[in-house]
Amino acid sequence: MRGPDTIDATCKADMTLWAFCLYCAHAALFDPHHLRSKVKGGDDRLETVAARFKCNLCKRRSVLLVPTPRTMISFDKMGLGRS
Ligand SMILES: [Zn+2]
Repeated sequence: MRGPDTIDATCKADMTLWAFCLYCAHAALFDPHHLRSKVKGGDDRLETVAARFKCNLCKRRSVLLVPTPRTMISFDKMGLGRS
């Protein structure tokens, strides 16, 4: 199944958003409802909104927004441990 590809669809699916830096792997959680209020009816496609994000750590604009079920907001459950 393909996930939501807009902020609005992410809200309606009751999911949360990971912002993930493709350069330094810094990750942060965002509330899609908060983002939706900032976009205010503009282009809310995730790739468009992500292009405006700048990583807090490396200051690069290489951020990916990934809709994630709220039940998965722990690194353990996401299986991101190093092997
Ligand atoms: Zn970064």
